[in-house]
Amino acid sequence: MANEIFVTAERCTGCSLCVKTCPVDAIKMIERPQHPNKWKLATINEKCVFCNACVVECDRLAEKTKKTDVFHAIVMHKDASTAPVIDTTLYKGVWCFAEQRHGKIVPTIYELLHVGGKMAKVLDEQLCVVLMGHGVKETAQDLIDHGADKVYVLDHPKLARFLEGAYAPILKDLILKEKPNKFLMAASAVGRSLAPRLAVMTHTGITADATEFDINPTTKMMHATRPSFGGNLMATILCERSRPEMATMRPMSFPMAKKVPGHKGEVKIVPIDDSMIQPREEFVEFIPDQDSASDISTAEVVVSGGKGVGNAKGFELLRELAKALGGEAVGASRAAVDSGWISYPHQIGLTGRTVRPKLYIACGISGQVQHLAGMSQAEVVVAINKDADCPMMKLATYALQGDLYEIIPAILAALKKPNTPALT
Ligand code: FAD
Repeated sequence: MANEIFVTAERCTGCSLCVKTCPVDAIKMIERPQHPNKWKLATINEKCVFCNACVVECDRLAEKTKKTDVFHAIVMHKDASTAPVIDTTLYKGVWCFAEQRHGKIVPTIYELLHVGGKMAKVLDEQLCVVLMGHGVKETAQDLIDHGADKVYVLDHPKLARFLEGAYAPILKDLILKEKPNKFLMAASAVGRSLAPRLAVMTHTGITADATEFDINPTTKMMHATRPSFGGNLMATILCERSRPEMATMRPMSFPMAKKVPGHKGEVKIVPIDDSMIQPREEFVEFIPDQDSASDISTAEVVVSGGKGVGNAKGFELLRELAKALGGEAVGASRAAVDSGWISYPHQIGLTGRTVRPKLYIACGISGQVQHLAGMSQAEVVVAINKDADCPMMKLATYALQGDLYEIIPAILAALKKPNTPALT
């Protein structure tokens, strides 16, 4: 049996949401003048990669509208035995995708180079970087200095801003031609939208948001591990039958690659012509985030508050402490965010941001596993808590037992004293 997908005409309302969902432009709407309501009909062509996205969307509408006579219109039968069997030995190299924003490289590439560099060493393969954008070529040498053996530069004015529809087809062509073994991206907004689309287009699997990576020395397969079931379980995911093995890496989970003195590498310019860039989306405007939370991920000092802070006003005290320590970054537990005391971009943890500061001060945070997932890589942790036995106090480098409303003012007063030594 081969893969099959078809539309049940009597259940299709012609809503065309499946067209918007399809990553490979395989669905077209056709007129249906004979239909009593003149509803159009979705038709699926040979470009279909059986990714299931349209099926899910159509089923979702059925759930949402609670209609039983329409939707659930797309039916797919996937035959695992027809998945292409590939010769995995043809795939070589560990590739990392370098994101750029406004022409500047995003530092997560150095974390990817750290992770990818270790893999490349075990595999004895090249460590490569894909650098896409406009006017980004100058950065290539810096990536080589940080361990890259080869940098593929894809430079074009139309690639200056990230658009999935522009980036994905070009990357797909490059992957199919060059056959990398592993492909790593950051689990950033860009990576989270680009990586799954690429995985579908190149018929491979992907592990999203991994926080640990390993190479099995015997099978040479990547073991990508990510938190599952709310962080209560760690799942290690393998991609056995297809290549490249893809994964997105949770930013701030790994150290940055260091410069490798004297390291040499190759810069390969990939020719791109206008006709290759036909996105369905359009870049309209960039509106910078005014919220100071936008920089907590990279801050050296983060002062965080939890349920123990008690109210929104209490976060002013935490801001004051952050400022006194030379920063501005204020984080929060989910309990504080859910209480409405501070906005979601400040949330740290499994379902929030990951931080890796030099100093993390946790005020009134008990230290549940979901919170620790976002900050356990901090160099020094100071916990301020009434409960000496809570997990955060056990994990902390310095545990200060007591009421945060007494301890923080005391620290502020001490910091204001002349000749107080720097804390960081
Ligand atoms: P609590 O656990 O209630 O702890 C409050 C602490 O404050 C206590 O230790 C108490 O002793 C102390 N305290 C009280 N008053 C004072 C005072 N005056 N001075 C000093 N100390 C005081 N949580 C996150 O943080 N981030 C996430 O991303 C996240 N994702 C989640 C995802 C899932 C799927 C699930 C199920 C949960 C998630 N959680 C997350 C929630 C998490 O499980 C905890 O509920 C949450 O972290 C608890 O927040 P808290 O430590 O502020 O509150």
